[in-house]
Amino acid sequence: MAEHNFDVVILGGGSGGYAAALRSAQLGKSVALIEKDKLGGTCLHRGCIPTKALLHSAEVADVVRDSAHFGINSQFGSIDMTTVNAYRDGIVDKLFKGLTGLVNSKNITVVAGEGRMVGPKTVSVGADSYTGKNLVLASGSYSRSLPGLEIGGRVITSEHALQMTFVPNKVIVLGGGVIGVEFASIWRSFGTEVTIIEGLPNLVPNEEPAISKALERAFRKRGIEFKTGVRFSGVEQHENGVVVSLESGERFEAELLLVAVGRGPNTDGLGYAENGVSMDRGYVLTNERLETSVPGTYAAGDIVPGLQLAHRGFQQGIFIAEEIAGLKPVTIDENGIPKVTYCEPEIASVGLSEAKAAEKFGAENISTYEYNLGGNGKSQILGTAGFIKLIRQNNGPVVGVHMIGSRVGEQIGEGQLIVNWEAYPEDVASLVHAHPTMNEAIGEAHLALAGKPLHAHA
Ligand SMILES: Cc1cc2nc3c(=O)[nH]c(=O)nc-3n(C[C@H](O)[C@H](O)[C@H](O)COP(=O)(O)OP(=O)(O)OC[C@H]3O[C@@H](n4cnc5c(N)ncnc54)[C@H](O)[C@@H]3O)c2cc1C
Repeated sequence: MAEHNFDVVILGGGSGGYAAALRSAQLGKSVALIEKDKLGGTCLHRGCIPTKALLHSAEVADVVRDSAHFGINSQFGSIDMTTVNAYRDGIVDKLFKGLTGLVNSKNITVVAGEGRMVGPKTVSVGADSYTGKNLVLASGSYSRSLPGLEIGGRVITSEHALQMTFVPNKVIVLGGGVIGVEFASIWRSFGTEVTIIEGLPNLVPNEEPAISKALERAFRKRGIEFKTGVRFSGVEQHENGVVVSLESGERFEAELLLVAVGRGPNTDGLGYAENGVSMDRGYVLTNERLETSVPGTYAAGDIVPGLQLAHRGFQQGIFIAEEIAGLKPVTIDENGIPKVTYCEPEIASVGLSEAKAAEKFGAENISTYEYNLGGNGKSQILGTAGFIKLIRQNNGPVVGVHMIGSRVGEQIGEGQLIVNWEAYPEDVASLVHAHPTMNEAIGEAHLALAGKPLHAHA
């Protein structure tokens, strides 16, 4: 076995791993980055980027369909999935080349192959072993299923859904979380009949209840069907489709079943527990400085319990690199991480929900305000409905920003600055927002919460 020594060895080249590699190299460390598939991981190849490309094609389809409303007479023909996929792959390829070039231009040795932890700070790849003064575990996640629900044939996950070369006529989506509603939205825009099945009482159950309700209204209007608060009991596959049954006895037929019930940590068989890493149900446990129970071994991204988001992984990777380099970075506040769901209409939020804020500060010590996009000029031009909900601590800062409406994902940057910099509504109210933008709605909402509503009817 050939032995190789580096300052930092990283297992997994996704968002968490490659961010740790780039920042470590920047800080003068020698780095080995072990990746069995492609640099960029889930986000670039099977997650964020390809789904958002499909969502953009979906938006174009909707615009063409509705163009007569804006006085543009065009004819919607059909969805050409070969071209849609080529457009998507073109974006992924370009970003992949850029990332590969960037990593190769640094003091980073990319090791192609499947790694396994074989010592406190050592990973083996085939006949070679890589030992770091520090080790970073960043092996990511996989699409989970339910016990007894086998993936295969017409029962697919997001990975398969992204590779499809045709538009299905009818799909059942199991799971009304982020991935489920994004695919439901894409397919509906492409002309598919979609039914979402969700066990909890609402779609996007991790969002503010008012946001869930607004999404349900918007989806109903778009002809996306959903059943919430129901329990899946099984699926039968036949030559032309699937029959999905619920515990209530209800049955639904479709061409495909997309299983979108969440993602599990990819840690099985990788030697973590055997080498002293404390685990919980497959997740790697860390302290708030992202160090595992093995001193000098850290973990980043989806294998660490918490929000499974690419930008969280990036930030954790950067944090770990700086921690290893002795820069003592400020810990990441999980509550300050923005979340965006890119269905139509979009959902974006950061900070506490009203319920969490009431729990933390006492219901009598918080105030909320909901600004309806009906009062926002740009939203009317775009033809979107929705609102911005703010939660503040009385005589204190804004602790939650929650939005729904077309393109609100682009507004979350200001939302996260407000929450993370602990701005008071009065501070934001005195800042000027450009007119006419959707962004103005944030300004208006803060004006209202500061007691001086302008374009608000309530
Ligand atoms: C359909 C979908 C849409 C998504 N959309 C968004 C979005 O819009 N925004 C967002 O923020 N997040 C989104 N996500 C989540 C995001 O992709 C993940 O949070 C992010 O990729 C996690 O990064 P990671 O580094 O932890 O893991 P990954 O990106 O999964 O990377 C782990 C890497 O480790 C490699 N690896 C694993 N085991 C080994 C081994 N033994 N040896 C060598 N290499 C190994 C894998 O090949 C992989 O490249 C989406 C996910 C999915 C599935």
